[in-house]
Amino acid sequence: MKRIVILGGGVAGTLTANYLIPKIGDEIRDRKVEVTLITDRPYQIYEPGYLYLIFNRLGEDELRRDIRELLDPSVRLVVDRAVRIDTENQKIICEKETHDYDYLVIATGARITPEDIPGLKEAGHWFYDLEGSKRLRSALANFKGGKIVISVIGVPHKCPVAPIEVAFILHDFLKRRGVRDKSQVVYTYPTNKIFIMDPVTEMIQPMFDERGIEYRTFFNPIEINAKEKKIITLEGEEEDFDLLVAIPPHRGAQVITDSGLGDKGGWVPTDRYTLKADGYDNVYALGDATNLPVSKAGSVAHFQAEVVAENLAAEIKGIEPTAMFNGKAFCFIETGWEEATYIWFDYFTPPQPVVPSKFVHFVKIAYNKAYWLTARGLL
Ligand SMILES: Cc1cc2nc3c(=O)[nH]c(=O)nc-3n(C[C@H](O)[C@H](O)[C@H](O)COP(=O)(O)OP(=O)(O)OC[C@H]3O[C@@H](n4cnc5c(N)ncnc54)[C@H](O)[C@@H]3O)c2cc1C
Repeated sequence: MKRIVILGGGVAGTLTANYLIPKIGDEIRDRKVEVTLITDRPYQIYEPGYLYLIFNRLGEDELRRDIRELLDPSVRLVVDRAVRIDTENQKIICEKETHDYDYLVIATGARITPEDIPGLKEAGHWFYDLEGSKRLRSALANFKGGKIVISVIGVPHKCPVAPIEVAFILHDFLKRRGVRDKSQVVYTYPTNKIFIMDPVTEMIQPMFDERGIEYRTFFNPIEINAKEKKIITLEGEEEDFDLLVAIPPHRGAQVITDSGLGDKGGWVPTDRYTLKADGYDNVYALGDATNLPVSKAGSVAHFQAEVVAENLAAEIKGIEPTAMFNGKAFCFIETGWEEATYIWFDYFTPPQPVVPSKFVHFVKIAYNKAYWLTARGLL
């Protein structure tokens, strides 16, 4: 029997499993293959929902589902934390048990590391995990005016457009609450422009100007002075704040680093087309866990899962795998309380944002509900 182990129960892991099972139905029935998904928590979180939770537009329960509910029933679910991946002996060593594999799919995602910036945990807020988002929701509800700094602290980070979206929505939120004219909104970015992709920058910069959203570029925070509420940067600048909304630094999963499978940031070096982990013929990597030059986005994980599932199924059936990932990404960009645009791009095609509209926003709101169908592999 061939054992396929998928490590990680986020969108990348569950979708790979759900796309794979129908392709190898005969082999599963004949007990020639077993698919196991190992993950350290029994539920999945729809992270894009944090952007709505902080403004009290979605509740915690709407963002969370049991993984068992999302997974094809043929998949064996193990809730356990992997502490080491032993590629030599093809084993995953978890806290409770050890699991053998013939094929491994690494889908361990990214984690935020606010502890990398002294003072950030004490004085900063963020919307990149559930606890942080709930804290920020409360801070925003109690905000009576002052200076809010939205600061992107290092790249890569999940959902590159989320900091832009939060700036736009925040602007409208403050207006709706009658405190925009008592508030200053400042957005900071580490490079020489306000976003990594020129076509997006060209569209949003004038929109920031129109709304009085200020921006600072070449702005790389190295420390937060929690007592004086000041950001100190590598460039030698200081920026004070009343409320800091940080995009904390990100790294790959601890198990990747501990197993010697990651680069400096803990990202798995991966072939950009085949999605095989560099140097391993039986290990795939996808989603936020890889070092690929693509957005760390659920949509990317989705398109990659299709490729990994197709190629794994081919390998199981003894056919040459031919599916290739072309870098495809799709992102909605909320540009206000009830307005949005979207971009899609791949390795060969740059993004071309369309004029923001209410229609695109309502499609995004509908997608927030429909996401759980996507996670099941049905959309
Ligand atoms: C605020 C915010 C807004 C976003 N908005 C969008 C958006 O609009 N559109 C979009 O496409 N994307 C968006 N994203 C990004 C998207 O959420 C991620 O790219 C996506 O969730 C990545 O999925 P993944 O499965 O690769 O990783 P994850 O979802 O992080 O899943 C990794 C899984 O692996 C598990 N794991 C890790 N280590 C271990 C271990 N040692 N043992 C066992 N299990 C382990 C974790 O518990 C987790 O379940 C947003 C993200 C954030 C934070």
